[in-house]
Amino acid sequence: MCSTNTGSMLETAIRFHGHQCPGLAIGTRVSEIALRELGKPAKDEEMFAIVENNSCGVDAIQVLTGCTFGKGNLIFNDFGKSVYTFMNRKNQKALRISIRKDAVQMNNEHLDLFARIKDKTATEAEIDIFSQMHIKKSNEIMDLPEKDLMIIKEIDLKPLPMARIHESMECTICGESVMETRVMLLGGAYHCIPCFEKLTETSVRK
Ligand SMILES: [Zn+2]
Ligand SMILES: [Zn+2]
Repeated sequence: MCSTNTGSMLETAIRFHGHQCPGLAIGTRVSEIALRELGKPAKDEEMFAIVENNSCGVDAIQVLTGCTFGKGNLIFNDFGKSVYTFMNRKNQKALRISIRKDAVQMNNEHLDLFARIKDKTATEAEIDIFSQMHIKKSNEIMDLPEKDLMIIKEIDLKPLPMARIHESMECTICGESVMETRVMLLGGAYHCIPCFEKLTETSVRK
C-alpha cells in the first residue's frame, strides 16, 4: 500500500523523470521492495539492477536505488519484459520482481487516447483527459497490494563483474576518443564503430 514513504519516493522520481505516469509508479514500487529487502541506495556498486525494458519505470529505479546507467550498476537487457532483478553484492541476496500484466493494464479508452497523442491527432481536451487518466492509473498502482502488483522471487544469481575502467584510443577517421574494448581494427588502424560501419557498410551493433 502507498505509505508516506513511498509517496515521497514517488515525488523524488517525478522530479527526476519529469512527469507522473503508471510506469514511474511501477518503478517506485519495485525500488521500494529492492531497498526494503536488499539495503540502502547504492552509492557505488554495492547493489546492481538488471532491467528488461527501458521505459519510464527505469528512471524511478535509477534515482531511488542508486543503480544507474552512469555507474554501470544498471544493466539493460532489451527483452521488453516488465521484470526487474536486483542483487546486493555483499550478502549475495538477489530478487527477481515480475509485474503482473493485469495489474497495470490500461483500459481501452486510455490506450486509445495514448495512441492518438502519439499520432498527434488528439485535441487539447483529450490530452487533458489523458493526463488525468495517467495520474489516476499511476495512483492506483501506488495503492495496489504488493501481491496483486508483482511476483517477487529470491533467486540464485552470479554477481556481475564490477564496471571497469578502460584505456581510450583515437579513431583514425574522426579523431574522437574510443574505449579500447570498442575499437574496430581495419587495415591495422583503430576505428570507432560509426566510422567502421561507414567504411564497411556493415553493422556491428546488435
Ligand atoms: Zn513517464
Ligand atoms: Zn570515428
